Amino acid sequence: MAKRKRKKCNLPNIPAASSQPAESRDIEQNEVPQGPRRIRLYGDEILRKKAFPIQEITEVERKLAEDMLVAMYAAPNGIGLAAPQVGVLKRLIVIDVNRNDLASRPLMLINPEIESLEGESIAEEGCLSIPDVTADIKRAEKAVVTALNMDGEEIRVEGEGFLARALQHEIDHLNGVLFIDHVSGLKRQLLRGKLRKLVKEQS
Ligand SMILES: [Zn+2]
Repeated sequence: MAKRKRKKCNLPNIPAASSQPAESRDIEQNEVPQGPRRIRLYGDEILRKKAFPIQEITEVERKLAEDMLVAMYAAPNGIGLAAPQVGVLKRLIVIDVNRNDLASRPLMLINPEIESLEGESIAEEGCLSIPDVTADIKRAEKAVVTALNMDGEEIRVEGEGFLARALQHEIDHLNGVLFIDHVSGLKRQLLRGKLRKLVKEQS
C-alpha cells in the first residue's frame, strides 16, 4: 500500500525460476531467489490470484519477508506489501505505517485473518502495484487480525486508523482483491483511463 501519490518504481526485472513446472513457479516453494524482487504492476494476472496458506516457515519464507521489506522501503511512501505483489502466491504481508519513525518496527504477518472489523472511515489510498492512482476508499476504522509471526507464534494485531486500513488493504491482496475494486460508479469510470494506460505499459 502507498500512502500518497508516488513515482513509478523501477526495480530490476528478475527472471522467473525455471527448475519448477510452470504452474508452481509462482509459489516458489523451495527456492531462495537472489537479488531484489520486482513489484508486479496492475495488469499482471498474479495480482488477481488467491494466495496459498504457508504451512511451514523456512529460510524461503524468511528471505521472502526480508525481500518484501526491501522492496517496500525502496518505494517512496510504501507502507505495506503482500507477497503476490512480488510474484509469490503465499499468504504473507509486511506493513510499516510509521516507516519514517526510526523506532518503528515492521509487521510481518503469515496467514493473516481478519477476526473483526469495526466502524467506518474514508481516506485516500494508493497501491505500489497501481502507480499514480489514488482514490478515497471506505474501510473499517478498526481491524483485529490474527496471524503467525516469523517465529510461527500466534499473534493478534489490533489496528486503528491507518494501520487498520493497511491490514485490510494487504489482506485483500492475498485474495486477489485490489483497492480499486472498492471504488464504484462514476469514480471507477474516471479511473478507467489511467488503469488502461497501466495495462498497456505492461504488454
Ligand atoms: Zn496494494
